[in-house]
Amino acid sequence: MSSPRTNLRDLTHEETRAFAATLGLEPWRGDQIFRWVHGRAVDSVEEMTDLNKKLRAELGEQAEIARLGIDLEQISRDGTRKLRLKTADGRMLETVLIPDGDAGAEDDATDETAEAEPAEPDSEFRGGRKPVVVPEHLQHALFPQRPKLTQCVSSQVGCALDCTFCATAKLGFGRNLTAGEIVDQVYRAEILLRDLPADDPTRRAGASHITNIVFMGMGEPLHNYANVVRALGILTDPMGQDFSRRRITLSTAGLVPAIEKFAGEATALQVNLAVSLNASNDRVRDELMPINKKYPIARLLEAVRKVPLDRRRRVTFEYVLLDGVNDAIEDAVALAKLVRSIPCKVNLIPWNPHPLSPYRRPTDARVKAFQEELRARGLAVYVRRSRGDDIDAACGQLAAKAAPPTENPLVPLRTR
Ligand code: SF4
Repeated sequence: MSSPRTNLRDLTHEETRAFAATLGLEPWRGDQIFRWVHGRAVDSVEEMTDLNKKLRAELGEQAEIARLGIDLEQISRDGTRKLRLKTADGRMLETVLIPDGDAGAEDDATDETAEAEPAEPDSEFRGGRKPVVVPEHLQHALFPQRPKLTQCVSSQVGCALDCTFCATAKLGFGRNLTAGEIVDQVYRAEILLRDLPADDPTRRAGASHITNIVFMGMGEPLHNYANVVRALGILTDPMGQDFSRRRITLSTAGLVPAIEKFAGEATALQVNLAVSLNASNDRVRDELMPINKKYPIARLLEAVRKVPLDRRRRVTFEYVLLDGVNDAIEDAVALAKLVRSIPCKVNLIPWNPHPLSPYRRPTDARVKAFQEELRARGLAVYVRRSRGDDIDAACGQLAAKAAPPTENPLVPLRTR
């Protein structure tokens, strides 16, 4: 029986060079192949037109390029686009494209992207120079936001962590995605965007290519640490997509040993960390996120404090607001106490309902009061606008249902 062909999509740059060496090829040939597979995201060896025919035939005997199939595409009225993707072994996963690149941030002039840009106004002293303070009403004119497009990627099929508010949790754990399956979500999105007409809702509402990547789709990325780190290496390789590490955010539900590992490697990894906190005390967090029973809040925050942060970087705490569960003013007071010693910002996410969950969304007034309480205590806090909730693409709603969703005349559906 012949041995299976190597999937080039799964290989890092170094591994591609090593693979090329096994075929008797020079390292520069490995670079050439890597550029085709990850820079140009081709789907077959045949497309590598600067390799001669003989070499392509030899390579094709030993290697292949696996790709995800787009099984279903849904477009929200706000331009958010959800893709249901199918792996080679028939597993389903979802990825979401969010125009404006703010992952739904409202009122937020300093999201992950903006933090990386020195032109942003800043109230701190930097390099011994006092910054110019720009009046709020002039900020937009002087620092217009470039159009952005954030991609929310999945790291696993399903999830093992069983957070009670999350639709993905109801699927249970399927399997880890490979590095190739993680990066291919970005390639599928880029190829799709490239072919969109100028009047497409996603194109009209945001940038024409992916500007930010957040690992907040299906799965706990730190539960699939090795493949996620390999995917980061591939996506940020100068001969691949050359994606900026500062525009990538990993989100965790609180796997303490993996956060500690991340802390040890953060200086090299250079990506942002978001922690899904969602409660101000262990009693409520135990209920919402069973992982808390193993790694309670104090332990979690101790691990987060170990993550080295340079002067422009902060940890993001995500806090899903559930009516009557964790949205009282006392919760805001306790939350501020918990996180105030950590350079951070807090993203409040008013609950996005889905039929698999008993929770309710708080009123706008309650959300505002919670935000104001945190702000009064000196925290940078933003409310995430709900994006794509009409197509179940908002935070906590991804479930890669096997059957197409109920048809909604306002939501164009495209099944492939
Ligand atoms: S919120 Fe994240 S970690 Fe929790 S079950 Fe859902 S996908 Fe998993």
